[in-house]
Amino acid sequence: MDKIFAVVVGAGRGRRFGGETPKQYLPLAGEPVFRRSLRAFAAHPRISAVLPVIAEADRDRFASACGDLPVLEPIDGGASRSASVRGALAALASQRPTHVLVHDAARPLVDQATIDRVVDALREAPAVVPAVSVRDTLKRTENDAITATVDRSGLVAVQTPQGFRYDLLAEAHAAGDEATDDAGLVERHGVVVRVVPGAANNLKITEAEDLHVGARLLQLSVVPRVGTGFDVHRLADGDGVVLGGVPIPTPLRLVGHSDADVALHALTDALLGTLGIGDIGTLFPPTDERWRGADSAIFIREACRRVDVAGGRITHLDLTLLCERPKIGPHREAMRTRIADLCSIGVDAVSVKATTTERLGFTGRGEGIAAQAAATVLYPA
Ligand code: MG
Repeated sequence: MDKIFAVVVGAGRGRRFGGETPKQYLPLAGEPVFRRSLRAFAAHPRISAVLPVIAEADRDRFASACGDLPVLEPIDGGASRSASVRGALAALASQRPTHVLVHDAARPLVDQATIDRVVDALREAPAVVPAVSVRDTLKRTENDAITATVDRSGLVAVQTPQGFRYDLLAEAHAAGDEATDDAGLVERHGVVVRVVPGAANNLKITEAEDLHVGARLLQLSVVPRVGTGFDVHRLADGDGVVLGGVPIPTPLRLVGHSDADVALHALTDALLGTLGIGDIGTLFPPTDERWRGADSAIFIREACRRVDVAGGRITHLDLTLLCERPKIGPHREAMRTRIADLCSIGVDAVSVKATTTERLGFTGRGEGIAAQAAATVLYPA
């Protein structure tokens, strides 16, 4: 069984854009570049684990930008890119990887298909790089003047992730040599490096303009998914209910294993529905004592975290409560605010509605409250 680790190198302190923040921590369409790069590998089913390499001075930056991602504890980089990769290989040695992919943190738009092509080719080749053809005519220049036209035939532009048999790359790095990419090092050891198609979108964020180009590419490469949720809880005599995360005084209570917040349960299922990973009962089994009397905020926050890790952006939540009592109207705005807060989205993106069922059925007889919800989430295409 292959054990493939990804090393994402973001130890550079390059501030080419003139600001104080290294470019891998700048936001690209609202999410730090480094975070996007890590997420691509963390979400890939064929990658065992992801090791970030960072500058020691960026520990706090990394924690706030990427601290919640399911990746290994970051290690500090070395004095050069090659030294950083060397450190990462040493840190992974005890876990005995069969292969390692090395990726630049500054390539946040790497897609799953490119990772797949590299991993597939590693079955037969010991070293693999993704590359795209060179489209522009290449010139050699000196003092803003052309001195020669370069023959473009046979030239490709190499990207990352670059994939290697672990032992091979460790051996190539053992001598402590420097190279601008890892393939360069193993080439020197006489290894034939296989080239697979890269992706035009897999751009390297180098100049400030690249952030704008990247943001535009991201806009074009999202797909909306709509998830729905439905839930019912029984009403009994009591001293208050929690609906949409808001305590409402009423001579009633909702009966359930957790706090029975039927509104947050329907919303949680709607969010999980966009991921296709089951429902609230799959994640938080009612047989588990941990969730007895639990605050349902836990459930919806976990659903949001999973959406986030998958690269999803919640654009809208729509909730309808079905009940005769308590009256929802006076609490509607408080619910919108609370739900928006729980999901880290704007209040404008949250709709709360309520209806009676004309005294018909179990909701009409006041035996219970029902809630239905829809969530719209944009995911990477
Ligand atoms: Mg429920």
